[in-house]
Parts: sequence; structure tokens; C-alpha cells
Amino acid sequence: MNCPLCFSSHHRVFEIDQKRSYLLCQHCSLVFVPRDQLINDEDEKKRYELHDNSETNFDYKNYLENTAHLVHSFLKKGSTGLDFGCGITRILENSLKEKGHEVFSYDKFFLPDDSVFENNYDFIILSEVIEHLKKPFEDLMRLTPLLHEDGLIFVKTKLRPENPEKFKNWFYKRDVTHVQFFSDCSFEHLSNTLQLTKAIQIDRDLFLFRNNR
Ligand SMILES: [Zn+2]
Repeated sequence: MNCPLCFSSHHRVFEIDQKRSYLLCQHCSLVFVPRDQLINDEDEKKRYELHDNSETNFDYKNYLENTAHLVHSFLKKGSTGLDFGCGITRILENSLKEKGHEVFSYDKFFLPDDSVFENNYDFIILSEVIEHLKKPFEDLMRLTPLLHEDGLIFVKTKLRPENPEKFKNWFYKRDVTHVQFFSDCSFEHLSNTLQLTKAIQIDRDLFLFRNNR
């Protein structure tokens, strides 16, 4: 079993609960669920369908519009972007379009339109997505070459508590579709391997990487 981010085989048990175990990679400090303990794609999709992430859920809509507002504040006029892992709606896409940007959306389950991988982008958003990816390194390796020079990647996720006791009671790990948890150190590993600048935190749980190639 190798780390799904850096592929190191050096890891130790960080936590075990009733549902799953969580391994700590000693190379990149990612905490990940062993891949043989993940739920299958069909069950994963059903879980997402249970969430009320619809246009008519105003809290969810507000939450995404707030993200769009923040992202917009870092963009040049008329930028082109991709919302990777948009879920069942195109709220982020529509909100950023209203602000004058050209935006595409992709979702493995709800909008699997592979033509988005033929474009190039000024920015890519992964909002509450990176913690779900079964193959995070492969997905990011596919996405980063699509960025223009100086292109931006916005990642929204919660960084894990360093303290195992805090991790034990952390609500974020209870969602069985969350299969890895990042730390500053795992982000640094990502930046180095994907030739991105060091992540800067631009809001609570929102991080910005810039293409450094
Ligand atoms: Zn690792």
C-alpha cells in the first residue's frame, strides 16, 4: 500500500475508528484511508445525491457564491476557468460567468464531459473536491498542464488537525467519501512535484497555488 499522493510506502497507523483506518504518510504527511477500504463509485454517487446541494438550497448557493466572489478577486478580467468536481449544479460556473469570466464545469459523476481536458485555463477550482479523489496525484497531474503560465489553482478543503486526539473527534473524517486529509506539509509536497508555488491561504479552508513552470 503506497501513499496516493507521493507513493511512498513509509506510513504508520494514525487512527482507527469503527469504519476505517487512517494511515499517516511519513514522507508527505498526508493522512489517507487505505484504498481497499474505500466505498465503490456507485455508493459514492448515491451519497452525493443524498446531499441537498441543489440550486434551491440557499445556504449552499450562498456558500458557493461567496467562494466565487473570493476567486473573482484574484482573477484578471475575462479569465477562463474550470470548476473541477462541480457536483450536481453549476452554481460556481454561473456565478463566475456573471462576473465576466468564461467557465467550464466537470464532474466525474454528474457532468463527465471530457472535452474540458482539451482546453487551457487561467484558473482551476477544486472546491471541497481534493479530499474525495481516489487518485489525487493522477487527477492533479492531469489538471496542472492545462494551466496557462501564471495560472491559478484554488483548493478548498479543511487541513487536518496535527494532533491525533483532535483528529479522532474531527467531524470531517466521518464522511466516508472523504478519503485523504492534507496538511501544510502535504501541500508543500504537491507544490514541489507539480511545479506550483507554495500555497497561500486566502480564506478559511481556501488555498491558492500558482503555476510556476
Ligand atoms: Zn505521501
